[in-house]
Amino acid sequence: MFYDWYAARMPKYEPVTLGMKFAVRIGDLEDSDGLHITCWKCGHDAVIPAAVLKWRFDANDRILQLEHRLPCGKCRNRDLNHWQTVRPIADTTRG
Ligand SMILES: [Zn+2]
Repeated sequence: MFYDWYAARMPKYEPVTLGMKFAVRIGDLEDSDGLHITCWKCGHDAVIPAAVLKWRFDANDRILQLEHRLPCGKCRNRDLNHWQTVRPIADTTRG
Protein backbone atom coordinates (compact mmCIF):
# COMPACT_ATOMS: atom_id res chain seq x y z
CA MET A 1 0.00 0.00 0.00
CA PHE A 2 2.62 2.47 1.09
CA TYR A 3 5.10 1.45 -1.60
CA ASP A 4 2.57 1.06 -4.39
CA TRP A 5 1.50 4.67 -4.16
CA TYR A 6 5.01 5.73 -5.04
CA ALA A 7 5.65 2.96 -7.52
CA ALA A 8 3.00 4.48 -9.77
CA ARG A 9 4.97 7.71 -9.82
CA MET A 10 8.37 6.13 -10.14
CA PRO A 11 10.78 7.68 -12.65
CA LYS A 12 13.73 5.68 -13.90
CA TYR A 13 16.51 5.35 -11.37
CA GLU A 14 20.03 4.01 -11.35
CA PRO A 15 21.95 2.82 -8.28
CA VAL A 16 24.17 5.40 -6.65
CA THR A 17 26.74 4.81 -3.93
CA LEU A 18 26.78 7.43 -1.21
CA GLY A 19 29.44 5.83 0.94
CA MET A 20 29.72 2.84 3.23
CA LYS A 21 26.27 1.30 3.35
CA PHE A 22 26.01 1.10 7.11
CA ALA A 23 26.98 4.75 7.45
CA VAL A 24 24.55 6.33 4.95
CA ARG A 25 22.15 8.76 6.59
CA ILE A 26 18.89 10.22 5.33
CA GLY A 27 20.58 13.60 5.11
CA ASP A 28 23.15 12.21 2.65
CA LEU A 29 20.45 11.78 0.02
CA GLU A 30 19.49 14.48 -2.44
CA ASP A 31 15.77 15.28 -2.40
CA SER A 32 15.45 13.79 -5.89
CA ASP A 33 17.21 10.57 -4.86
CA GLY A 34 15.31 7.53 -3.75
CA LEU A 35 15.57 4.36 -1.73
CA HIS A 36 14.93 1.23 -3.77
CA ILE A 37 13.71 -1.51 -1.45
CA THR A 38 13.27 -5.13 -2.49
CA CYS A 39 11.39 -7.58 -0.28
CA TRP A 40 13.26 -10.86 -0.02
CA LYS A 41 10.09 -12.74 0.91
CA CYS A 42 7.72 -11.88 -1.93
CA GLY A 43 9.97 -10.02 -4.38
CA HIS A 44 7.93 -6.83 -4.25
CA ASP A 45 10.05 -3.74 -4.86
CA ALA A 46 9.53 0.01 -4.90
CA VAL A 47 11.35 3.30 -4.66
CA ILE A 48 10.64 5.71 -1.82
CA PRO A 49 11.65 9.30 -2.70
CA ALA A 50 14.29 10.77 -0.40
CA ALA A 51 12.09 13.81 0.12
CA VAL A 52 9.52 11.51 1.76
CA LEU A 53 12.14 9.86 3.94
CA LYS A 54 13.37 13.28 5.06
CA TRP A 55 9.84 14.22 5.97
CA ARG A 56 9.16 11.03 7.91
CA PHE A 57 12.53 10.53 9.56
CA ASP A 58 15.42 12.54 10.96
CA ALA A 59 18.26 13.57 8.64
CA ASN A 60 20.70 11.98 11.07
CA ASP A 61 18.95 8.61 11.00
CA ARG A 62 21.00 5.89 9.35
CA ILE A 63 19.09 4.16 6.57
CA LEU A 64 20.23 0.81 7.93
CA GLN A 65 18.29 1.55 11.13
CA LEU A 66 15.08 2.32 9.24
CA GLU A 67 14.51 -1.03 7.55
CA HIS A 68 12.27 -2.20 10.39
CA ARG A 69 10.13 0.89 9.92
CA LEU A 70 9.64 0.33 6.20
CA PRO A 71 7.40 -2.73 5.80
CA CYS A 72 6.81 -4.36 2.42
CA GLY A 73 3.69 -2.98 0.75
CA LYS A 74 2.55 -6.46 -0.20
CA CYS A 75 3.34 -8.91 2.58
CA ARG A 76 4.26 -6.46 5.36
CA ASN A 77 7.61 -8.17 5.88
CA ARG A 78 9.99 -5.71 7.47
CA ASP A 79 13.04 -7.86 8.15
CA LEU A 80 16.19 -8.12 6.06
CA ASN A 81 14.78 -6.37 3.03
CA HIS A 82 17.41 -5.35 0.51
CA TRP A 83 17.77 -1.64 -0.12
CA GLN A 84 19.83 0.46 -2.48
CA THR A 85 20.14 4.21 -2.82
CA VAL A 86 19.18 5.33 -6.32
CA ARG A 87 19.30 8.53 -8.37
CA PRO A 88 17.01 9.53 -11.27
CA ILE A 89 18.54 8.83 -14.67
CA ALA A 90 19.04 12.03 -16.64
CA ASP A 91 16.84 11.92 -19.72
CA THR A 92 19.29 12.32 -22.61
CA THR A 93 16.72 11.62 -25.30
CA ARG A 94 15.26 15.10 -25.01
CA GLY A 95 17.03 18.30 -26.02
ZN1 LIG B 1 6.95 -8.66 0.62
